[in-house]
Amino acid sequence: NHLAHAISRASDGRHDAPFLRDAVSGKVMTYGAFWNAAEQMASALQRLGVQSGDRVAVQAPKEIPMLELYVGTVLAGAVFLPLNTAYTSEEVEYFLGDATPRVFVCDPDRQDALASVASGCGVAHVLTLGSNGAGTLTEARDAEEPGFEAVARDALDLAAILYTSGTTGRSKGAMLTHRALASNSEVLRDYWRFTDQDVLVHALPIFHTHGLFVATNVTLMAGAQAIFMRGFDADAIIAAMPQATALMGVPTFYTRLLKDPRLGKASKNMRLFVSGSAPLLAETHDRWRKVTGHAILERYGMTETNMNTSNPYDGDRRAGTVGFPLPGVDLKVCDPESGAELPTGEIGVIEVRGDNVFAGYWQMPEKTAEELREDGWFITGDLGFVDADGYVTIVGRGKDLIISGGFNVYPKEVEGVIDDLPGVLESAVIAVPHDDFGEAVVAVVVPHDGASVDQGLVQSGLVEKLAKFKQPKKVIVVEALPRNTMGKVQKNVMRETYKELFS
Ligand code: ATP
Ligand code: MG
Repeated sequence: NHLAHAISRASDGRHDAPFLRDAVSGKVMTYGAFWNAAEQMASALQRLGVQSGDRVAVQAPKEIPMLELYVGTVLAGAVFLPLNTAYTSEEVEYFLGDATPRVFVCDPDRQDALASVASGCGVAHVLTLGSNGAGTLTEARDAEEPGFEAVARDALDLAAILYTSGTTGRSKGAMLTHRALASNSEVLRDYWRFTDQDVLVHALPIFHTHGLFVATNVTLMAGAQAIFMRGFDADAIIAAMPQATALMGVPTFYTRLLKDPRLGKASKNMRLFVSGSAPLLAETHDRWRKVTGHAILERYGMTETNMNTSNPYDGDRRAGTVGFPLPGVDLKVCDPESGAELPTGEIGVIEVRGDNVFAGYWQMPEKTAEELREDGWFITGDLGFVDADGYVTIVGRGKDLIISGGFNVYPKEVEGVIDDLPGVLESAVIAVPHDDFGEAVVAVVVPHDGASVDQGLVQSGLVEKLAKFKQPKKVIVVEALPRNTMGKVQKNVMRETYKELFS
């Protein structure tokens, strides 16, 4: 069992070493206790008839038994399938119908609605996991004895199916192999220098690649400790920092923490701050460095590939870039039309290849064939370039590119200039159909609290800074940008909202 073996290696012989510390109760779970619980979970799954390759789906609050279930599922040779807790019953129905799991674990508060959805999808067993670990899942676990012989699985067998965030359309199930997960976490552990001396503040959700496979697996593979938080809470993170060494977060973690005057002092003994899942503004990077003395380490990844690039541990962590391809990851920038590799510095579609890359989209052979080349290169759909020093910069998603009057406009460039204008908090630049230009550049702008921003101010502020074809034809001021459950800005929603602006 490739992944289970990789996970257990770092904690072998360290039965009494701490793995998880509950941020609320302060209770510590050792590696030994965690392994016992995971083995009991594996036995419970087998008792429910779970066999190699069966899916075990879970939509439950962030609780330690969910991590036990993850490792237990892997031990049982099955495929772990976590779902975003924000999904409605209707959305869950799509995922269960698509993935046809044998077991589904849900929040007891939603059991009434979800049990019938699950049985409609042919799910054999529904168990519950609620806050503080209550529910039938932990009862099933407690009915078993520790000790479990891991079911044999090869490096290329599936360990998990993780659905993408659905930022650009309907979520797709990425099939992740034992090798993809194990190799990527080992690479990250070494690249970011995680050891058994580390204490990670774990405040990310565990249904997403960032909190599950980056944060949790790296902790496990290093034999390190994690302070387990149910979600983002600036007070709790500030309070935990003096006993911690590392934090992994999305950019909003960092902007929110920067509002706290205690940050500078609290972060003194921290070793590492990692950011990813969405672009970190250079401004946030600079302010963080001023306040804490630390350069945030930004990395780039996705559900399908885990992590692809990272800024260096030693050396220059450059704001606005996502660093270098990780060891074992090949990366190239290609012409979106022809697929031919482009020279250094030119913008194109980023393609990656390596052990980290997924095995295809679950039940979507056509989509898989479109995006995953036969020779192993995965077409990420992200646009970017590699500079002369080898740093990769993401300029946006291919689907968000604007072609106005025949010229390419990269939204991120325009957003960067708008965000620097006085009174502007953030912005999103999108394409809207236009008779003359094909697509027109439109800026959706959010002002700072109490600031007044309007179209004239934004347009005049850009005249000297951007070529005419990049300047927005219209500026719309809003209170907030639409975001999905992962906090990602949904440009497809805005394109739909404003599609008739010029007609
Ligand atoms: P879907 O594929 O369903 O539309 P999604 O792509 O948002 O949703 P994820 O796999 O969670 O789903 O997100 C991966 C994407 O997040 C990447 O393709 C990239 O666009 C973006 N991303 C991740 N890290 C960074 C980063 N450091 N800078 C910029 N973008 C990033
Ligand atoms: Mg995607």
